[in-house]
Amino acid sequence: MSAAFVEAMVLPAADHLQVPAAAARNLLALLPGLGKQVCVSGKNRVFADEIVGTQSPHLLEHLCIELMCQEARLAGVPATRILTGETSWQHDSELMRVRIAYDDDLVALASLKQACKLLDWAYGLDRGDAGDKRPAPAPRDTVPDISAIVQELHTFRER
Ligand SMILES: [Zn+2]
Repeated sequence: MSAAFVEAMVLPAADHLQVPAAAARNLLALLPGLGKQVCVSGKNRVFADEIVGTQSPHLLEHLCIELMCQEARLAGVPATRILTGETSWQHDSELMRVRIAYDDDLVALASLKQACKLLDWAYGLDRGDAGDKRPAPAPRDTVPDISAIVQELHTFRER
């Protein structure tokens, strides 16, 4: 088995550098497995202990892992699948590098795309029809359909 890595250089907006408690609550309620992930950032803890106040790109990494885990479960693949992530600051810049690994690069890429949409939802930054950024009311009453998102990831595997 070979691993595919997908890397994204992320420049978080200054007002969304850290994960607010409301966004964390929304996402942990939507994806309970997110909080149970092992996180080696600082201390070896579960991500639920880290999520509030962590950098948004770090949350993006864990969202990708959660989506890839769900896709793997749907596909019925064994636990030997390569499935990791890491987030690091880039020296002398405000960029953070998010790197996720999976054995199917298209699924990894699709999970990154979907995780960005989930972040927009959790932060209340859904795009308007004209592509404009608009603040959404909080708490949101439109919850993303995770099963549809995972099904879409699954279709990448079948191509
Ligand atoms: Zn982590």
